[in-house]
Amino acid sequence: MHGLAPVVVADRGSARLAAGHPWVYRSDVTRPAAQPGFAAVHDRRGRPLGWAAVHPTSQLAVRLVHAHDTPVDEATLVALVEAALARRAMLELAGVDGYRCVHAEADGLPGLIVDRLGPVLVIQNGCAALEPHLGAVLQVLQARLAPSGVLARFDGAAREREGLERAVRVLAGEVPEVVEVSDGVLRWPLRPHAGQKTGTFLDQRLNHLRLAGYARGAALDVFAYHGGFGLHLLRGGAEHVTLVDSSATALAAARAAAARNGLPEPELVRADAFEHLRALDRAKARFDVIALDPPALAKRARDLPRALAGYKELNLRALRLLAPGGVLGTATCSAHVQEAEFLNVLADAAADAGRTLHVLGRFGAAPDHPERLGFPESAYLSFVLLQAL
Ligand code: SAH
Repeated sequence: MHGLAPVVVADRGSARLAAGHPWVYRSDVTRPAAQPGFAAVHDRRGRPLGWAAVHPTSQLAVRLVHAHDTPVDEATLVALVEAALARRAMLELAGVDGYRCVHAEADGLPGLIVDRLGPVLVIQNGCAALEPHLGAVLQVLQARLAPSGVLARFDGAAREREGLERAVRVLAGEVPEVVEVSDGVLRWPLRPHAGQKTGTFLDQRLNHLRLAGYARGAALDVFAYHGGFGLHLLRGGAEHVTLVDSSATALAAARAAAARNGLPEPELVRADAFEHLRALDRAKARFDVIALDPPALAKRARDLPRALAGYKELNLRALRLLAPGGVLGTATCSAHVQEAEFLNVLADAAADAGRTLHVLGRFGAAPDHPERLGFPESAYLSFVLLQAL
């Protein structure tokens, strides 16, 4: 690795790093990096603050790797991958072979996502500093996990901001069109080349099981994707399950997954969820259990007010469809919406719907998506289990 000159940050940047946040934005950098790479970070008096992935033009100018003054080299990155894998060892014992091996900043590796989907690994990288070292990262992943193939899903928007090319390509071995993954209970046929994200939403794995504990009667899974909530509800004993999603491909995969697990066929509705919830209300439909798992409505901080209005509308509509004593599992995966704010929205929706809500549990993403204290963006997923009287 060639040595880059230290990057100097303004007081606001130093304060953020001191508070445990790994990012300093471009506007808080007084001497930026000449090129992407790893560099020491100094405050304006020249005091070392740590080592970071740095970028000359990206808004994320500094992404801290560690807060001590030891250069980040390839051995550092390999050690971070090893530590991330060690944190997940217990999952393998539970028979789970679909999980996140590396969760970017929360595992100390800026912008790097590695998901294990059964026999294959799927990698996303949104950090230009890391890109030249992906070979070394790949080597340790292959040595530890012996995948039959590794796929780069380099099609995310984050790559463009870092000046990285966008493409989907096989990096090693073979990556079949369909792979099968176990969440410890059900088996899921997934399409790593074409599915949303790296093929599925691994972060909701435990929340699927939590809601399934309340399975009964008629259940509705809104923003279902492959039916992670709905199929677990079917398995848990719900009599009738309806999946709603705007993607026909996702619903076809849900049907295939139900068949693969010997479950009855769920009812599939391809529709806009906002409109369909209204239609169900007009038809006076009622459900005993509802899952509500929209995509991130606030992708940027400035979307927040509109996003909160969206969450309120969805939850209000879901509450209107919920039978007395019914259970709602409701999620937000917006990095800009913290749990306390989400609970306020839910209380608002309950007031408007004239329902009393009991919180049966509050959860985040599965532990293979660790959070990092001081970095609220890593606590992006809130899942609340509610019973409505
Ligand atoms: N509940 C799923 C993950 C859902 S991801 C699980 O636990 O695995 C969000 C889903 O919402 C995606 O499948 C996407 O296709 C769908 N979606 C996005 N916008 C939508 C809309 N307006 N109406 C219905 N579905 C939508």
